[in-house]
Amino acid sequence: MSVGRPQQVRGVIARAKGAPVELVTINIPAPGPGEVVVDIAACGVCHTDLTYRDGGINDEYPFLLGHEAAGTVEAIGDGVDNVEVGDFVVLNWRAVCGQCRACKRGRPQYCFDTHNATQKMTLEDGTELTPALGIGAFADKTLVAAGQCTKVDPAADPAVVGLLGCGVMAGFGAAVNTGGVSRGDSVAVIGCGGVGDAAIMGARLAGASKIIAIDRDTTKLEWARDLGATHMIDASTAGVVEAVQALTDGFGTDVVIDAVGRPETWKQAFYARDLAGTVVLVGVPTPDMTLEMPLVDFFSRGGSLKSSWYGDCLPERDFPMLTDLYLQGRLPLDKFVTERISLDEVEKAFETMHRGEVLRSVVVL
Ligand SMILES: [Zn+2]
Ligand SMILES: [Zn+2]
Repeated sequence: MSVGRPQQVRGVIARAKGAPVELVTINIPAPGPGEVVVDIAACGVCHTDLTYRDGGINDEYPFLLGHEAAGTVEAIGDGVDNVEVGDFVVLNWRAVCGQCRACKRGRPQYCFDTHNATQKMTLEDGTELTPALGIGAFADKTLVAAGQCTKVDPAADPAVVGLLGCGVMAGFGAAVNTGGVSRGDSVAVIGCGGVGDAAIMGARLAGASKIIAIDRDTTKLEWARDLGATHMIDASTAGVVEAVQALTDGFGTDVVIDAVGRPETWKQAFYARDLAGTVVLVGVPTPDMTLEMPLVDFFSRGGSLKSSWYGDCLPERDFPMLTDLYLQGRLPLDKFVTERISLDEVEKAFETMHRGEVLRSVVVL
């Protein structure tokens, strides 16, 4: 066992609402009981990091950003038995507790009491940092709970498999876990950024026969085609519901995934689905959004209306499996890495992401 020591490393923080992020020195304590220090190899830039910076999650500044990461276990605290020093891991934000009412009912993918590190990382002056999604991996190293580390095959490129830690898993799982897409299904995906394209990749792996990509941006529709979409709808020129129906003998698809998360896209998802079909909401709405619809439509169209948190994933089950499929050439995870950047380029990457020019920028350390 390596107990480690307190140390100082570089980390990217958001100090105040909307202010540009800063690369600063942070303090990382030696891992306590149940904690692990991970030497970060790569961390993807996710829209949620930008939402933290802009105050859309909470106001517990300063935030230590970054949460789609892979790296190597550097030190472990007392009682850690799921990983050892030197293990290659992908970080997750669903370290299940095994004790809450969801876990006890055999539904750990809904765990309501997931674990994070108990100790705080701080600025040099002692100010406590709030790590994004309990991870904080735009840093040379970070401190997490042991359950947040999932071992995967070390042959995999960390910049690629780190993305399993959030957006790619959310999209893939929305299709395969939450939506239950299986062979022969027809599927439509609204919004073809990282999450939507991962849903398309998942639908393809699961054997969907028709995969319809919907976006207003033709670049994104090309990404979607590359990841397995069989049909493309440009929502800037076509009525989405009518266009989906036209591609499905007038009926709509078995599953529609809303990877945007706005009232208008959710309504499109609702009406673009076949009778008794499934809608999966994986795009994240903002608190001001509301929905008004005829209640009779909910009844008469049947089926199921679901939300997908983190793709209903179980990291211990899903990360190693998806890593293996990627290494076997059966899952094109590497297509999500548009560019590799350094730790001081996160703010610039936010702008590139905001303009919709990348699937993922990945910080490589
Ligand atoms: Zn639990
Ligand atoms: Zn994310």
